[in-house]
Amino acid sequence: MPVIGIVGMWQETNSYSSRATRLADFEAFELLAGDAILAHHRGKGSVIGGFLEGLGEAEAIPLFSAGAWPAAPPDAPTANILLARLEESLAGAPRLDGILVNLHGAMTCEGIADMEAATLAAIRRRFPAIPVMAVLDLHANVSLEACRLCDAVIGYRTYPHVDMAACGRELAQLMRRATGGERFAMAYSKIGELTSPMAQGTGSEPMKGILARAESLAAAAGIERISLLPGFPYSDVERCGFTILAVAQADRADRALDCVAAVRADVEAHLPGFRLVRPKADAAVREALLREEKPVVLADLADNVGGGSPGDGTAILSELVRQGARGAVAIIADAEAAVAAAAAGPGASVDLMLGGKSDMLHGPPLPVRARVMRLGDGRYRTNGTWMTGQAFSMGPSAVLEIDPAITVLVTSTAVPPFHIEQLTGNGIDPRTASIIVVKGAVAWRDAYGPVMASAIEVDTPGCCPLSPAALPRTTRPRDMGPMLIRRD
Ligand SMILES: [Zn+2]
Repeated sequence: MPVIGIVGMWQETNSYSSRATRLADFEAFELLAGDAILAHHRGKGSVIGGFLEGLGEAEAIPLFSAGAWPAAPPDAPTANILLARLEESLAGAPRLDGILVNLHGAMTCEGIADMEAATLAAIRRRFPAIPVMAVLDLHANVSLEACRLCDAVIGYRTYPHVDMAACGRELAQLMRRATGGERFAMAYSKIGELTSPMAQGTGSEPMKGILARAESLAAAAGIERISLLPGFPYSDVERCGFTILAVAQADRADRALDCVAAVRADVEAHLPGFRLVRPKADAAVREALLREEKPVVLADLADNVGGGSPGDGTAILSELVRQGARGAVAIIADAEAAVAAAAAGPGASVDLMLGGKSDMLHGPPLPVRARVMRLGDGRYRTNGTWMTGQAFSMGPSAVLEIDPAITVLVTSTAVPPFHIEQLTGNGIDPRTASIIVVKGAVAWRDAYGPVMASAIEVDTPGCCPLSPAALPRTTRPRDMGPMLIRRD
């Protein structure tokens, strides 16, 4: 039976975020070596959970896995520790027949602009000749250097990313074929264009159609996999852009190249569909109040916690207060306010400057008089369709009520709105809300879709703006390919 090593290195890095990423952030999310990786992922809806399932009878050797929520670039000491621990685990590994790697693809550290390439290079220094295969997030800013170090690279098909485990299983099966002697090649191209994540959802156009056409082309051409990776535009790195990547059996490499060229032309023809216009907070709140069917979700696009934003933006909350939105619910990350609420105690009233403290991008702090309804430790376990069964913590949290009957869940740390348990675990029933503010672009839909009547995406200020062009850049995304990548 083949022996397959497992490695993970995962963060979506936002160059504009004020939320620092330190070693403690990896420790809080995932920083594991050896068997602890199996215990953490086996049976879970994660990429590595999918690896373990897809490997079947092959022996899995868990080596190292690090991950942190999206935020600012990990500092240099943190990046160096992650790589040193990876190298240590590789040095202690037994003889391996292949390595499966769970990457994000948009991880950029202080001093290491391409953390995926650095991770794969460390693997290749120890294991130059065995198959190495990687899964990437759909928001990967896919680097040619990273791909050149791999035998096969595939990306998530979906956004929201409900297919993490499926991708893990799929790659593990490719790996089993590679250890049986099959050889694979890739075709790669990048369109040097930044697209708005709000337009990248795979359940709607233009992505839905592009993906369907690409997959039928790939099937007709008899190639293994086509990946569409529109990328993460809030990273100030050259490798940003929309990547098209195909994996084929080595003797079908030319077909993969033709397929990538055709899909690239299709994406280019639909680029205008990736440029969106949405209402600002004042108009969006007005519209939500007029809608009869409740609750209406207001998506705070630029304070997208899952994209590295601080989660303390006040643009929508201040409009809810100003326009008297009774029964609205919002989450604000504000550790200071959580401490003040805990000190005041349940039932007490407290004057707060709420949110807006992280930076100047997300609106000023909002002065409020709040009644403390409930205090908690912010822990919850997910029952949703992805990251299923995993436990997360928002830190010490408080449920506040501010005039006019607006419920605010104040958390110590910002956690993306991927799971409804953030609210239900704190005694808030989202179905009885009039308006729910979620700090996200697209990924919240899986959790909130079943409980909402409708949604309005709001063009707010912040570090994940609707138009990526709203942020200053020092780098320009580069156009590349189509080209073949082979390891032989
Ligand atoms: Zn993503």
